[in-house]
Amino acid sequence: CGIVGYIGTQAATEILLSGLEKLEYRGYDSAGIATIWEGEVNCIKAKGKLHNLRSKLEQLENPSSIGIGHTRWATHGKPEEHNAHPHLDMTGRVAVIQNGIVENYRELREELKQKGYEFRSETDTEVIPHLIAEYLKNPPFPPLPSSPSPFLEAVRQAVNHLNGAFALAIISADYPDELIAVRQQAPLVIGFGQGEFFCASDTPAIVAYTRAVLPLDNGEIARLTPLGVEIYNFAGDRLKKQPRMLNLSP
Ligand code: GLU
Repeated sequence: CGIVGYIGTQAATEILLSGLEKLEYRGYDSAGIATIWEGEVNCIKAKGKLHNLRSKLEQLENPSSIGIGHTRWATHGKPEEHNAHPHLDMTGRVAVIQNGIVENYRELREELKQKGYEFRSETDTEVIPHLIAEYLKNPPFPPLPSSPSPFLEAVRQAVNHLNGAFALAIISADYPDELIAVRQQAPLVIGFGQGEFFCASDTPAIVAYTRAVLPLDNGEIARLTPLGVEIYNFAGDRLKKQPRMLNLSP
């Protein structure tokens, strides 16, 4: 129900937690955060209120400067910790959070199960990390020569197979300098700081850090790196877009 993503130079965990707190008004039943730490995805989830997640995270001194955080309002699968986001692929290298619903998740789940993918949750979301992992190995179409990254290309090919209304944020331990955000009929904004970039389902999550924002349009993918933000459509064409300044009273 709430999404926050960060890539930059500061420690991500506190930025993600405080962003999620600003989205609590949307309601949620569980929460989770994934960062990339010592070459691995570090994924921590908790049922119930954000302070449950906060107390689990306080025991770790995790300096990671890339991460994604989610508050979940269950639509598919009970509000339990194993259904909380982020969801990982089988190797634990790809982490995905979703707002919304993947309508064709049953067909995708069956196809992926036949290929040997094992599911750990009852959510519609879990097909996404498995699909990205599959397409990183076996792209259904030749990767676009213009694509700057195999990770972006696998995400792009995966979202072209999803039906529904969703917003996504995705990281991979194999691509620790990239955060990919996708909007399809569910809100997502990109925030531009100095050497740090954000994504969020709503601006209150990031206004403490930046007021330069770009709301994504439907069918757009943003690739955030510590150097900047690139926007693409689902066909892989690069789009020219600039942030605008949010006009908020102090
Ligand atoms: N459909 C997803 C789930 O049930 C996402 C729900 C949400 O938007 O929080 O896990």
